[in-house]
Amino acid sequence: MRTVAVDGSCTLFIQSRVKQHAELFLLLGMITPLGWLERVPTYKEQQEQLKEKDLHTFGFLGYPVLQTADVALYAPMRCRWARPGLAPGGGARDRPQVQPSLRQAPQADPGGAAPVPHRRAQDPRLDGRKMSKSYGNAVELGEDPESARKRIMVAVTDPARKRRNDPGHPEVCPIYWLHRAYSPPQTVELVDRECRTAGIGCVDCKKMLLQNLIPALEKHRAARAELDRNPGRVDELVQLGIKKATAVAEQTMTVCAMR
Ligand code: SF4
Repeated sequence: MRTVAVDGSCTLFIQSRVKQHAELFLLLGMITPLGWLERVPTYKEQQEQLKEKDLHTFGFLGYPVLQTADVALYAPMRCRWARPGLAPGGGARDRPQVQPSLRQAPQADPGGAAPVPHRRAQDPRLDGRKMSKSYGNAVELGEDPESARKRIMVAVTDPARKRRNDPGHPEVCPIYWLHRAYSPPQTVELVDRECRTAGIGCVDCKKMLLQNLIPALEKHRAARAELDRNPGRVDELVQLGIKKATAVAEQTMTVCAMR
């Protein structure tokens, strides 16, 4: 992550140094019904998948609320403000969503006080489950090429493509979403088109992805090595990032206080 941040394309900061994360989490926690959190699919899924861990804690149950706060602090422009009565009959569609991936949400804030993500994020889940370090199913930025190659080649794709000639639906496939992140637009268009018509198979599609993904990972690894030689640069960027993040978070909390 450090190497992604130092090229100036994003802000690197220590979240716990921006107190507004805790403030917004607290406010959202006050208005989020327990039932909505208990219905978050990953709440039950992870309890079943990670039996060796005790996940019967408030921290785990309330984690989607914290994640919502983390995102909403910096993305209010991508959020709609929930107000009772906007949806037909003032129903659930009008409530903010709180979910781990902001994807499959139960809703919160019947009082209409919190910003909610307007768009759904896609997570490239390589084994059909939610992408998570706990599951070991994510391609990490510092991953070495051979390990990344193995993960991609065994990744689950669109279940509709059982045979080479079956047409697919790229939007449900993690490989497609990785193409969107790492491949040039013409490749993304080609994959989108040829997957739907079974013009390409999944193996070829994955190989195309690797041609773009591996060099990107190599770039991150090289940048990381450079930073390891100059740790002071990271501290500098973090301090700047904390200031920048705090300024944005303060603005969002001011808007919250006015609602
Ligand atoms: S062709 Fe590519 S996008 Fe389509 S299902 Fe296979 S791997 Fe996914």
